Parts: sequence; C-alpha cells; structure tokens
Amino acid sequence: MTQPVKYLLDESRMPKAWYNLVADLPVPPPPVLHPGTAQPISPDDLAPLFPLSLIQQEVTTEREIQIPKPVREIYRQWRPSPLYRARRLEQALGTPARIYYKYEGVSPAGSHKPNTAVPQAFYNREAGVKRIATETGAGQWGSSLAFAGALFGIEVEVFMVRVSYNQKPYRRALMETWGATCIASPSERTAAGRAILAQRPDHPGSLGIAISEAVEVAAQREDTKYALGSVLNHVLLHQTVVGLEAMAQLEMADDYPDIIVGCTGGGSNFAGIAFPFLGTQLRGGRKVRIIAVEPAACPSLTRGPYAYDFGDTAHLTPLTKMHTLGSAFTPPGFHAGGLRYHGMAPLVSHVKQLGLIEARAYPQLSCFEAGVLLARTEGILPAPEANHAIRGAIDEALRCKEEGVSRAILFNLCGHGHFDMQAYMDYFAGKLTDQTYDEAELAMALAGLPVVTTV
Ligand SMILES: *Cc1c(COP(=O)(O)O)cnc(C)c1O
Repeated sequence: MTQPVKYLLDESRMPKAWYNLVADLPVPPPPVLHPGTAQPISPDDLAPLFPLSLIQQEVTTEREIQIPKPVREIYRQWRPSPLYRARRLEQALGTPARIYYKYEGVSPAGSHKPNTAVPQAFYNREAGVKRIATETGAGQWGSSLAFAGALFGIEVEVFMVRVSYNQKPYRRALMETWGATCIASPSERTAAGRAILAQRPDHPGSLGIAISEAVEVAAQREDTKYALGSVLNHVLLHQTVVGLEAMAQLEMADDYPDIIVGCTGGGSNFAGIAFPFLGTQLRGGRKVRIIAVEPAACPSLTRGPYAYDFGDTAHLTPLTKMHTLGSAFTPPGFHAGGLRYHGMAPLVSHVKQLGLIEARAYPQLSCFEAGVLLARTEGILPAPEANHAIRGAIDEALRCKEEGVSRAILFNLCGHGHFDMQAYMDYFAGKLTDQTYDEAELAMALAGLPVVTTV
C-alpha cells in the first residue's frame, strides 16, 4: 500500500523572521483611509484599537520582521508543521501531478489561526493590555485567540456570528475552556448589535456585524484592545511562517511548486502559504501559478468590485481598498463559516488586481466531495473551509491527468474539521445544498459602497 510521504523540518530550521510581501511589490498598495475624512490614516488613528508594535507591522515596508523569541518558543509546540506528499490521493485520482499539502491542523486550536493569535497576544501583553475583544465566524479565530490569551494572561471576549454560534456549540465550549467569554452576535451588548436587532430580531449575524461589536467594545475601554484574525497586513505577515516552512520542506523533497492553492475567507492562510513564493517570483525567481479558492455563496474576489469599503457593518473601521461585496452584505449560512466575510484582505486584493494571482469560486457540495476524498485517502478530516483548497488542488491535478503532464501542486490544509461534524453529517444525509446569495441583497450592498473621491 502506498504511504504518504512526510517532510518534517528540524526545529532549528523554523523561520526566525516573517516575510513582508510589501517590500517586493511592483506597485505599492493603496493607502488606508480615515472613515470620517477619507484622508490617509496615521498610525495614531489606530492606537485605540491596536498596540503600537502591531500598527508598525501594519505599515512597514521592510522585507523581514523578526519573530520574537517568546513567540518562537510557543510556535515550537506545533511548528514546524508537517508537509505531506499526498501519494494516496494522487493514486486515487490517477494523476501524474505531485500533490503536496501543508497541514496546519496540528495547532492546539486546529487551524493556522494560532500563528497570528500568539504574536498578537504577545504584543498586546508587552503593551500592558488586559483585555482583547474580537469577532469570530466559525469559531476558529475565537478559540485561537482564547488559547493565546490563556498563555499570556489576557482576558478575551469573543463576538461569535449567531448562525455559527448555533451550528457549532463545541467551538464555544472550547473558547470557554481556555477562559474566554463568547457572545452570540448581533447582541444586546453594543449599540451596533442593538441597532441590527431592532431592525431584524432574528438576524443570523455576519462577520461584519461581529467586528462592529468588538471594535465598539475595544474603543470604549482604555484597558481593552481589538484583534482581527484575518484581512490585515500584520495578520498575513504572521501567517507567512507557513509558506516559509513549506519552501524549506519542498527543498528537502527536491521539488518546487508550479501551482499553489489556498482557500480565501479574509485571505490569511492563502497569503501565508503563497506570499513567500510570490516574493521569490517578484525578486526574479521561479514563476508560480497561485490560485485563491472562495465559496460561490460569498464570492468577494471573483464577484466583488475592487473598491474602498468598510471592514465592518456599522462603519467603525477605516476604509480599505479591497474586493468587496459591500459591508451590508450578509452571506447565506453555508458551512464554511470562516469564509463568510464580505471583503478580502487588501494585500490579496491588490495582487489579484496586479494579475499576480488567480481566483475561482466553488459551490459547497463539490468542496465536501473533495474533502471526503482527502479523508478517505490521506486520513485527515479537513475543515469545511479547507475543502475549497482541496477542490482547487484536485481540479488542477485532474487537469494534469487530461494533459498528461506532471506538475507540483501545493495546497494549504489550513485546519481539521473535528468541530464541524454536523456539516459532514448533513452532507452524508443529503441535506447540504449549494446555497446562493441573494442577488437583490448583493446589489443593495454594492449600491451602499462609500463614495471616495480624494484618491
Ligand atoms: C478562519 C479560517 C479560514 C478563513 O480565513 P483566512 O484568513 O482566509 O485564512 C479558513 N480556514 C480555516 C480553517 C479557518 O479557521
């Protein structure tokens, strides 16, 4: 029987610095604008929400940012994460492609999110912060920050999108086990939440609304900051540890990817695996095809215009230029809760705009089919989000078969799905459907995009 091949990097080769793509971009990304004045923001504007060290990482153009030693010490618990060659999946597909995946489900929270939760908690503690408020969709980010908060003695308050709160009670229990508080959003706790509930008491919630609630709480209290699990430059930066390790591991395999695939919610696990390779390409190295895969029910990269928009529903955040479905857009309650965000990371949107990456959207049934095939061949049960990347990688492998060429395909298996068994049960019971978004609602959300004239 064919065995999977595992490339385990020695601890001594774990990256000592994160990689910042901004240093190598041919065109700098557009500025972030103040929501009131529509002028470029200054670091001071962000100071109520983030510690200075993270604000600096948000705007830096330096190529390498040292990973603090205490953060590396914690990373060591599960990093370097394994890279596998998916021999049994290749065999099942009958493809000449060489499929590799980086497995981030080995972290305590079960996904790539602790890669940024740990440094964010570290920098907050360095700045004397006592509490962090945040949002979570499927619960992966909330549990990752709860884990990191427990390590650094920081209180964590999580606003969880209501539909996921109801779908995934075990994620909530996990957050509480790590000592965090978890509140279904929209909630009565904040003005933003109360305003939404007044309009629609049974509102299923959205990441945009949960962000508004967390930002509101953080802005009100001196001892409380805000943390975001995706989208922002510093989050993408922290995730590059994934791609940097994969690069060293593929070197061990004496291979190099022709194609890299990642799923995109806010863009962080995708950027994490792809940006170090993209940077190599931009500095004159080997060219690589990079494919972002998103859900057809929330298709920001493939369907959303590239425009300035708010990161949240109540318009408390700065304006960033990104592919967006409009901050008022509420995606349907499909199971990949981590991919239900109206916008896409500004950096991912920018490189898409520059033609440096491709994007495609898949309906959820075909993604679950791909995830089940991975489980049955490689043994790992993937998060519903990761199923999108698997679908993309499988489709590329099948194209290799059609064309009779062997290409190296690398994808990010960004998390396991042990807390998502209801989704799999629904899939096996034939209850899962390919949900689509409401065209009228999308049109309305897009009509509500802010008009920005100063840049
Ligand atoms: C949060 C999450 C995502 C989506 O976020 P990105 O920032 O796009 O990575 C995808 N997969 C998993 C497992 C997640 O937890």
